[in-house]
Amino acid sequence: MVATLPETGRAWDEIEAEMLARGQGDAKWRDGKTAVYVFNAGEDVAAVQKAAYTAFMSENGLGPLAFPSLARMEKEVIEMALGLLHGPDGATGAMTSGGTDSITMAIKTARDYARAQGKPLEGANIVLPQSAHLAFDKAAHLMDMEIRRVPLKTDGSWLADPEAMAEACDEATVMMVGSAPNFPHGLIDPIAELGTVAEAKGLWLHVDACVGGYFAPFARMNGVPVPAFDFEVPGVHSMSADLHKYGYAAKGASTVLFRSEELYSHMPFDLVGWSGAPMKTPTLAGTRPGGAIAAAWAVMNFLGIEGYRRLQGEVCATRERVEAGVKSLGFEIVGTPMLGLIAFSHPEHHAFALYGEIYRRGWFTSVTKEPPSLHLMLSPKHAEFIDGYLADLEASVQAVAAGKAGPKVEARYS
Ligand SMILES: *Cc1c(COP(=O)(O)O)cnc(C)c1O
Repeated sequence: MVATLPETGRAWDEIEAEMLARGQGDAKWRDGKTAVYVFNAGEDVAAVQKAAYTAFMSENGLGPLAFPSLARMEKEVIEMALGLLHGPDGATGAMTSGGTDSITMAIKTARDYARAQGKPLEGANIVLPQSAHLAFDKAAHLMDMEIRRVPLKTDGSWLADPEAMAEACDEATVMMVGSAPNFPHGLIDPIAELGTVAEAKGLWLHVDACVGGYFAPFARMNGVPVPAFDFEVPGVHSMSADLHKYGYAAKGASTVLFRSEELYSHMPFDLVGWSGAPMKTPTLAGTRPGGAIAAAWAVMNFLGIEGYRRLQGEVCATRERVEAGVKSLGFEIVGTPMLGLIAFSHPEHHAFALYGEIYRRGWFTSVTKEPPSLHLMLSPKHAEFIDGYLADLEASVQAVAAGKAGPKVEARYS
């Protein structure tokens, strides 16, 4: 049946009931049974997100003159971010709608900076580890740039290989990338070594801290031996860090950060050539949801360093329980994870067969292809549910071992 706009409107309570009924078929994230897509920091944080989002839902970040409140919140979000990520004096940035947006804007900025330096853009390319996010490919496609994915180290660390990446660079390389951490393995690339390569070659190094930017600093404060991964490393020119992940902000909130005003100056669009009034936008978006900016600012102020440390500590403790639990079921952990993501593989049973079993037991998780492994992105709320996951995983391993696995379930993101 084709949906048509109803001739006359319907009552909200009827509409609401229908929407909630439809949501019954979705992944059960409120029951802790989803370890991808949703970051659940509990009811109190959710209440702040909702109230702050709603209070500024109609305001528009496109209009800083009309809404100085939003301009100030965005500025303070960026300052708080740079304070966490060792931004030097003069470092700056902007809020965007998400990680893909932040990465796209960082690439655009690096490209325009390269152009301003007189660099040849014929054959412009980005050199990145095989584990870097596909958002780089998407942005490179938009800007007609080449993506050069470099194999990871083969020493069992599953980290970026700075030497091989150095070799993949040429005079048309516009950006080198490291992840902190990458999504498939949850591991932090050797950013300091990548920084040394970038400095020696005069290249722009971007650190994709989309999923770790608001986690790793607090893990480090809690004593986790997180290596240098941010502007502390001199070669780092820009970073992407998503507030709508471990920043626990409402969705539609990320940050793209630059070491200096000079680098940043290649990002905004300051345009006049039309019939309307001049328009200056820091990023690609025109209209920008005031709610997303306000909710991010509110959650950061609600949690503070203490709140984030507590939540990230809970997530790390849950990850340690997962590590111990899956090892006792015969799994091997991929590399040495330190944050909230973990991948693990079984020497005897294929991860994708196990995935089908755990999926049938009601868990919406994900998989990593290289190496074939099960993947979890943990939230604070998972502390309450992880024993249930481990019990279901044990049952899944037994079903696969006994040849009693159900039909294959393909793990895809969309
Ligand atoms: C989530 C993620 C992205 C993309 O962010 P979106 O908000 O989904 O667009 C990029 N890089 C890494 C490492 C991520 O985890």
